[in-house]
Amino acid sequence: MELVDQLSRHQTIDAEALRALLLCQDTSVVSYLHAEARRVADQAYGRKVFVRGLLEVSNHCRNNCYYCGLRRDNRELRRYRLTTDTIVDCCKKAYTWGFRTFVLQGGEDPQQDDDWVVETVTRLRQLFPDCAITLSLGEKSRESYKRFREAGADRYLLRHETYNASHYQQLHPREMSQHHRLQCLGWLRELGFQTGCGMMVGSPGQTVDHLVEDLLYIHASRPAMVGMGPFLPHHATPFAHEPAGSVELTLRLISIVRLLLPEVLLPATTALGSLIPGGRLLGLKAGANVLMPNVSPSGAREAYALYDHKDAGAMTGPADWAALEKTLDEAGFELAVGRGDNLLYNTCPP
Ligand code: SAM
Ligand code: SF4
Repeated sequence: MELVDQLSRHQTIDAEALRALLLCQDTSVVSYLHAEARRVADQAYGRKVFVRGLLEVSNHCRNNCYYCGLRRDNRELRRYRLTTDTIVDCCKKAYTWGFRTFVLQGGEDPQQDDDWVVETVTRLRQLFPDCAITLSLGEKSRESYKRFREAGADRYLLRHETYNASHYQQLHPREMSQHHRLQCLGWLRELGFQTGCGMMVGSPGQTVDHLVEDLLYIHASRPAMVGMGPFLPHHATPFAHEPAGSVELTLRLISIVRLLLPEVLLPATTALGSLIPGGRLLGLKAGANVLMPNVSPSGAREAYALYDHKDAGAMTGPADWAALEKTLDEAGFELAVGRGDNLLYNTCPP
C-alpha cells in the first residue's frame, strides 16, 4: 500500500519501487492500486469517458514490424485504402451520433502521401471546426508533420513501443530504430501536437525492467496521451507463436500511468477489449478515460488485422452510441460529448 500511496501523493517513484509494484503478488495491493488510479481519474475528469471515432484509413504499410499483421511481407492480407470522400462521409455520420474527435490511423502507406493527408485534414478541419483531429500514421519527416499541423491536425499518436533500444530492435527490422521513433515524438511535441506515446504489454522479449524504463520515460516526457494494450499474436507474422500479453499487467500499467500523470488521456484499447470480454470496462475501472469506437466502413475493419481475433468495437449507427451510453451508465460512467482534451494542454489552433 505504501508504494501506491507514494505514487499517488508525489506522482514520482524510483525504478526499484516501480519494479516492486509491477511484480507485486499481493492482490489487495493491486486492488488498492486500481482504486487509487480510478479515484485520481475521477478527480481530474469525473466519471466522464471521452470517445474518439477511429478510422482505419489504410492497411498498406511500407514497414515490416515483426508483431503487426499489416507488415509489408504479409502477402495474405487483402489490402485497402479509404478515399478522402469515404472518410468525410464516415465522419459526417459519426458527428451526428455525437463524436467530436476523429482519429485517422493507418499503415505507412506511400500512396496516402503528404499531399493526401494535408487535403484530407484540411477538408475535415473546414467541415468540423469544433472537432479534434488526431493522426496516427507513423513516422514522417519533421516537414511532413509541420504540414499536417498547419492543415489543422491537433493530436498525433505514435507509440514509442519500447524505450529500450535493444528491445526495440527485437521487435523491428534494422531499418527502424528507437532513436528515430523518439526523434519523431520530439518533433511532434515541438510542433504543438498533443502527443501520445505508448507500448504493447507483453511484447516478445519484454522484461519488467523494460517496462520500468517505459514508465520512467512516460513520466519524464509527460505526453498528453498514453496508449497501452496487450500484444496479441497474428498468424502471418514472425511472432505468430508468441504468447499474448496479460490483462492483469495491462490494467496494472494503466493504473500506474494514471497515478504518474493524473491528467493524462488513457484509452482502454481495442486490444484489451479483444483479449477478454468486457476488457475495455476493466480498463476504465483501472483508471482509463478514453474509448475509441471504430467508425470505419465494415470491409475495412476486418482487413485492418493487426492481430488475430480482433474485436473492433465497431459503431455503425446511433443505436450503438445509445447502447454504449447505457453500458457506461450502468457501470457508473458518463459518455462525454466533446473534444475531450487533456486538461493541461490548451487547444490553440496551429
Ligand atoms: N502505423 C502506425 C504506427 O505504427 O504507429 C499506426 C498504426 S499501428 C497498427 C498502431 C499500433 O498498433 C502500433 O503502435 C502497435 O503498438 C499496435 N499493434 C500492432 N500490432 C499489434 C499486435 N500484434 N498486438 C497488439 N498491438 C499491436
Ligand atoms: Fe506498419 Fe504500424 Fe503495423 Fe508497423 S505497426 S507494420 S508501421 S502499421
